[in-house]
Amino acid sequence: MGTITILPETTKNPITLMGMRAGTCWNANITDNEKNYKRGLDCIKSGHGRVMEFVNVEMIIDGYSAKILREYYTHIGGSPSRLQASTRYIDYSKGNGFDYVTPQSISKDEDVAATWHSVMRYVNTNIQHLINNGVPIEDATMLLPLAYSSKMVDKRNLRSLVDMSRVRTCSRAYHEYRKMFNDICNALREYSDEWKWIVDNLFHAKCEEVGYCTESKSCGRRPKRQ
Ligand SMILES: Cc1cc2nc3c(=O)[nH]c(=O)nc-3n(C[C@H](O)[C@H](O)[C@H](O)COP(=O)(O)OP(=O)(O)OC[C@H]3O[C@@H](n4cnc5c(N)ncnc54)[C@H](O)[C@@H]3O)c2cc1C
Repeated sequence: MGTITILPETTKNPITLMGMRAGTCWNANITDNEKNYKRGLDCIKSGHGRVMEFVNVEMIIDGYSAKILREYYTHIGGSPSRLQASTRYIDYSKGNGFDYVTPQSISKDEDVAATWHSVMRYVNTNIQHLINNGVPIEDATMLLPLAYSSKMVDKRNLRSLVDMSRVRTCSRAYHEYRKMFNDICNALREYSDEWKWIVDNLFHAKCEEVGYCTESKSCGRRPKRQ
């Protein structure tokens, strides 16, 4: 399964940093980190979202399907930067070719799973065949399925991740995305205590924020708005 690696460029103490940035604007004493922390929390609780844009998150997202990484790309708030694994320089004719993600609806049924793996083997073999017969990698990889697992380096701010949590922890989001977002949450929780507070208190579905479901097809977690 996929892995999330939080890179050291990620802000270690995001709440303290937010308090420090806000304090500068209030001519406050920003040399005292205890006060910075309290001020940071106050900004968050007061809904002053702009300070969240000063908190940097850089991570390697590896081993999730291209389908999910494609969906990840739609989150453009705060102008994030992303680098993705190359379908030109990674030679899929080597070794076992591409890896792929198998949804549980497929893996749980032996017959269905056999068909799935046989299609993947077929595509893998033929990509290798094309490359070995002179087709450039960048063209042969046009055959890659959405299920192939890929890698991305991502840089974005906290506000963008909070926005992402609103829609991607919703039951309507695709299950692999929800799993990936949960992996991001766990990796950030481990990064520092301040991140643990942020994940536990700020990352949740929109229904938990507003108290009712805004979706047309509700999962029932919260009542529909009357
Ligand atoms: C269940 C589900 C199904 C989906 N199905 C589809 C689908 O079938 N096809 C498809 O294409 N997409 C689909 N999406 C993706 C969806 O349409 C959005 O592209 C995705 O959720 C990212 O947009 P966002 O507003 O949530 O986040 P972001 O783009 O990160 O935006 C976050 C916030 O930033 C601000 N913002 C962002 N961009 C701007 C801007 N240009 N101008 C001003 N403010 C801005 C807004 O306040 C916005 O709320 C789906 C998403 C979900 C959760």
